[in-house]
This record gives sequence, C-alpha cells and structure tokens, in this order.
Amino acid sequence: MKTALITGITGQDGSYLAEFLLGKGYEVHGIVRRASMFNRSRIEHLRADPEIYGKRLFLHYADLQDATPLRRILQKSAPDEIYHLAGQSHVGLSFDIPESTVHEVATATLSILEICRDLPKLPRFYHASSSEVFGSPDDSPQTERTPYRPENPYGCSKAFATQMVRVYRKAHGLFAVSGIAYNHESSRRGENFVTKKIVRSAAEIAKGGSQPLVLGNLDSERDWGFAPEYVEAMWLMLQHEVPQDLVLATGSPCSVRSFTKDAFAAAGIQVAFEGEGESEIGRNELTGETIVRVSPEFFRKIDTTRLVGDPQAALNAIGWRARTIGGDVARKMLLAEM
Ligand code: NAP
Ligand code: GDP
Repeated sequence: MKTALITGITGQDGSYLAEFLLGKGYEVHGIVRRASMFNRSRIEHLRADPEIYGKRLFLHYADLQDATPLRRILQKSAPDEIYHLAGQSHVGLSFDIPESTVHEVATATLSILEICRDLPKLPRFYHASSSEVFGSPDDSPQTERTPYRPENPYGCSKAFATQMVRVYRKAHGLFAVSGIAYNHESSRRGENFVTKKIVRSAAEIAKGGSQPLVLGNLDSERDWGFAPEYVEAMWLMLQHEVPQDLVLATGSPCSVRSFTKDAFAAAGIQVAFEGEGESEIGRNELTGETIVRVSPEFFRKIDTTRLVGDPQAALNAIGWRARTIGGDVARKMLLAEM
C-alpha cells in the first residue's frame, strides 16, 4: 500500500484527491488546521466512515507556518507522495492580505521542500501551481514555455513556489513537479469564487428568490474545468517516469457572462443581457425582471481578463484531458446546487 500526504485536505481539491487516492488503495494522511468552527465539511463523509478513518485516513494538526510539526508529521508518516495543495487560494483577496498570502503560498512551499530534502526516503512532490503565474500573457493559449508575469500577490507567490520546485528538482534531485492548473470548479468550490456565486444565485432565483445576482467584470474569460478530473491529473503527474511541470487546462475560454447564461438556462431561466460596462444588466427574458447587475465592488485592482491554457503537453505526457468544459461545468454545478 502506498502512502500519500495531502496538505489542504479540507479544501475543494484536497477532498476529491483524498477520495481518489483512497479509491486507489492508498493510506492517506491529511494536514488540517485549527479553526474556531470545526472545519471538515468536505471530508466529513470520509471521517464518518469507520472502515476508512483511523484505518487508512489519518488527520494531523498543523498550520502551514508551523515548520516543526510539519517536519514531525512528514517524518512519521513517511509518505511516498506529497500533494501540496494548502494555502490562501483567492486572487481578489490576495490584494487585501498579501503578506499572509505570500507566507502560505510561497514561503511555506519552500519550507516543505526543505523538509522533504532531509527525509530518509525522498517523497514525490506535487505542487498546486496556478495559471495566475502568467498574469496577462502575450501568448494564447499559454503553454509550459509561456513566461511568468504575475499581476497579483497570489500569482507572484505561486510563481515563486513554482520556480523553487524546479530548483529543488534540478539542484537536489527531488521528483518535484508543479501542475499549472487553470480554474477548476465543483459543488465544493469556495463561496467567494464567481462560479459558485452564480450557480447559488441561479438556484435561489429559480426557487422564487428575488435578490439579483451582483457581479464584477462580465467580460473576464477563464478556462473553467471540473475539479474531480484535475485531481486525477495530479496523481498521473506523480506516476510519470520523469518529473515534468504541466499546464492543466481545458483549452476552452468561457466568459463570466456566458457562464452566467448557461447556469441560469440550466435552472430554466433565459437571461438577456443589455447595456454596457457597469450599467449592464441581465433580464429574465420571460418576465423582464432584472436578475443580474454589475457593481464596481466586484472589480479587481488589476484583473487578468483572459486566461486559457494549452492542454496538449499534458495529453502527450500523462494521457490526461479535461472532459467537462465551460457550460458543462455550469450545468453540473447548477444541478448539484438545486
Ligand atoms: P481551497 O478550497 O481554498 O482549499 C485550500 C486548502 O488549504 C484548505 O484545506 C485550507 O484549510 C488549507 N489552508 C489554507 N491556509 C492554510 C494554512 N495556513 N495552514 C494549513 N492549511 C491551510 O483551494 P482549492 O480550490 O482546493 O485549491 C487547492 C490548491 O490549488 C490551492 O493551492 C490553490 O491555490 C491551487 N489552485 C486551485 C485552482 C482552482 O481552480 N481550484 C487553480 C489553480 C491552483 P481550511 O479548510 O481550514 O481553510
Ligand atoms: P480566479 O480566476 O481564481 O480569480 O477566480 P474567481 O472565480 O474569483 O474569478 C474569476 C473571474 O471572474 C475574475 O476575472 C473576476 O474578476 C471575475 N468576476 C466577475 N464578477 C465576479 C464576482 O462577483 N466574484 C468573483 N470572485 N469574481 C468575479
């Protein structure tokens, strides 16, 4: 039986990855942090299963800032594979809390790499990097060779961590890789991400709610995929014979406006957009009621307005391709929300 350690096991990706690895017969160790409210909702079903919890799934307390407990946990669990997913993951928020974002996303990754270097058995190491390392790139779609030009504290921190992973791979011979992942969503997505906000509102309005959905930049485009498919790519990257950083993307851009239309349509409501910029609104085609508004509150200081990745290298190297794309993600999320 192989042993894996997941940082960020209580997050969207960590919870799907834990299910995936347990399904493959792994012993799974997860790092959780203390919060004033018990914070395990995404993995509660695994914790509640007596055949799994305490037998093949083990949770350990540590914060990313705690290098000593992290070292102890890594020494004790002696994982074959580490999936490093923990950290502040919201781009917009990283403008408000840049210092903790840098500590969690950049410096903590370096600390874990340092710990790995000293372990008697070198684990394979996956780092959850992000398309935000590219900022507003000249190339479209972006590939593994596109230069890093991040435009927010989160992207800068991911760029640092991604470069460090490469340094540890080359300098210290670690099997360490970064998945440069584009946005991937699911019913477990955090509530302040735009997709979750949209499907939640569409479901509420379909059930008779009257609060309009208030959004920022509707023209912004993202390469939205489905999170459970992305955790398989993480695992495949660690099974590959050579360590290699890969872009994980669908290859299809989708605007916030288009995602909104698809989510509402899946809830049985057709939205017609009219106006421009901050005066743009979305009306219910049938009733004429305003159900989507734009507010400056949700615009970012700097926004990467179009990100789309080239999935070809991942397909060639590990045989992975995203199957659920753009509007299909909106439909799946809406169904789950309803
Ligand atoms: P998420 O849902 O926000 O989960 C983040 C996880 O990190 C949670 O388990 C959280 O614990 C934990 N965490 C945060 N700060 C911590 C700290 N100081 N100490 C210990 N644990 C801490 O994020 P996700 O969507 O699953 O994404 C996983 C990783 O992939 C993140 O690094 C993210 O930046 C990266 N990524 C995600 C996407 C995407 O579209 N989802 C795309 C590219 C890259 P709590 O549950 O206690 O908060
Ligand atoms: P990100 O790509 O990791 O920043 O994921 P988000 O879901 O937070 O944002 C995706 C895009 O949607 C960004 O370009 C945002 O500017 C845009 N957006 C438009 N309206 C909103 C909103 O109300 N909330 C959020 N979070 N993003 C919005």
